[in-house]
Amino acid sequence: MSEVVSVKDVSKTYRLGTQTVTALADVCLTVHGGEFMAVAGPSGSGKTTLLNLIGCLDTPTSGEIAIDGEAITRLTAGRRADLRARKLGFIFQTFNLIPVLTAWENVEYPLLIHRRGGDVAGRVRAALAQVGLGERTRHRPSELSGGQQQRVAIARALVGEPSLVLADEPTANLDSATGREIVDLMRRLNRERGTTFVFSTHDPRIMSAADRVVEISDGRLR
Ligand code: ADP
Ligand code: MG
Repeated sequence: MSEVVSVKDVSKTYRLGTQTVTALADVCLTVHGGEFMAVAGPSGSGKTTLLNLIGCLDTPTSGEIAIDGEAITRLTAGRRADLRARKLGFIFQTFNLIPVLTAWENVEYPLLIHRRGGDVAGRVRAALAQVGLGERTRHRPSELSGGQQQRVAIARALVGEPSLVLADEPTANLDSATGREIVDLMRRLNRERGTTFVFSTHDPRIMSAADRVVEISDGRLR
């Protein structure tokens, strides 16, 4: 199977005044194409830091990260942004939709800013149909429930056909039944499309949906 993510000996330290905080220490991880993988750990264990580094949103203090064989740690900021646009999709705990845009426009937005040509409307329609939003595509986020907002965010993450979707605690702001629906939806899309998913959680019921769970504590994988 292809290696979608390779993390080698990655550490991340933050400097806070005179103190240094070690958010990640010597992390090694390989994720293969088509996996549905969970990173599990308590608050403060380094989950967001790890996902942000894999997602080219931040750079490690030391170590190497490659996406689809491309070493992201050596790219310029511009090339990292380009790789992010071509290959990655993001889902966040707080949904992070643009409040003034409708569900449809939120999903369309990444295609427009990255100037993806072709049948934009057809792609938006297909992405929204896959997440089961029904008739609510002309509504703004404030008119949607949390679960519906996260469905829109999943459609937005997938509309560019990324090789990897990173979901940082995607169910943490949802009640447990809705959280389960969201993880089941991600699971179905992973199976149907073959898209690789890495998601973080501290909820054992959500973890159990994963093919593989890696546990993190105090910045170290166990
Ligand atoms: P999690 O997502 O598992 O809650 P984080 O990756 O957010 O964990 O944080 C890991 C550790 O790094 C924590 O101790 C946190 O306080 C610290 N940390 C995260 N981001 C920063 C930052 N920008 N500046 C300083 N410390 C940070
Ligand atoms: Mg976090």
